[in-house]
Amino acid sequence: MSKKDSEKASVDQARRTKPKGVALLSGGLDSTLAVKMMLEQGVEIEAIAIKTPFCDFDCGKGCGHKVKEVATDLNIPLKTVYFGKEYLRMLKRPKFGFGSGMNPCIDCRSMMYRRAKEHMLRTGADFIITGEVLHQRPMSQTPRALKIIEEETHTKGLILRPLSGKSFPPTDVEINGGVNREELCNISGRSRKTQLSLAKKFGILDPPNAAGGCLLTDPQFSKRIRDLMQHLHADELPSDNDIELLKVGRHFRLSESTKLIIGRNELENFKLRSLTCGSDVLIEAKDFPGPIGILRTKHYEHSQVEKASQMVLRYSDCPRGLESEVITAQNGKTSNLFAVSMDTRDIEKLRI
Ligand code: SF4
Repeated sequence: MSKKDSEKASVDQARRTKPKGVALLSGGLDSTLAVKMMLEQGVEIEAIAIKTPFCDFDCGKGCGHKVKEVATDLNIPLKTVYFGKEYLRMLKRPKFGFGSGMNPCIDCRSMMYRRAKEHMLRTGADFIITGEVLHQRPMSQTPRALKIIEEETHTKGLILRPLSGKSFPPTDVEINGGVNREELCNISGRSRKTQLSLAKKFGILDPPNAAGGCLLTDPQFSKRIRDLMQHLHADELPSDNDIELLKVGRHFRLSESTKLIIGRNELENFKLRSLTCGSDVLIEAKDFPGPIGILRTKHYEHSQVEKASQMVLRYSDCPRGLESEVITAQNGKTSNLFAVSMDTRDIEKLRI
């Protein structure tokens, strides 16, 4: 932060009569309630919404997709922050490891806390608000994990979790009298009963589902991202396109440097076409309806194109055992080859 910004933040802080908090807002019920509780106490709030390549506000799966509407309803300013390359770098080697999938929750939350703290300092705010609930998530919401995250980010005394506030030592803003501790909750665990009654109290008519949109906790997606990471060079990071590709189709590992992705329906075929890039080989059956396959490889080998063609044929309407024509296209150049569909058991051995 520049000296000028820092001076402005201090002046703003001195002028204010009520405390100011920076809220980590996901658009889910918990962070919305945390903000509501603080607004009730007269706290001025600015929100930050964090997007990662794996947790998309627009995924439609859960928490994040409504964040902008939620901030508007709450009448608070919202800043969206995208963690791109820095997030992928962390994901290659998270200091505190992974949860049950490829979710590096402690490192991920640390990045979020750090960014919230930066915003807090820049805007002259006094503390950070999160919707975290003690023991709700096994990796990042245990007392030990939360302590680690605070230590890593030097935020001790700055993180107020209104939903579980009474279960934690008082934060600085409570000690200074800016927030009344008596009005905080002491929710613990995965039940949403108390949150749903709070939602009713605050007039939230359609509380969002608990299911989060983070793909890194999804077992199937975790296998794919693990495979991708394992096949990168030490200092190489996946591209945005690589990550988007993981979200579509059936995935197969053909060799250290070659992967095949086959669409499961028309929409996925369309997406695969749009994600084709560089030296990708696009493969489809010529004479039978069927999917699109993308062969993504660092070293082109004709034998891999043949194998991929047999696999793409398997998912087409081509009768088993019949030799049939396949069209392949690379960099706008098409060519044809003949193949017989691969046996399902052999295909399954290659599935990621
Ligand atoms: S579930 Fe995903 S977004 Fe949430 S803390 Fe874990 S890694 Fe981060």
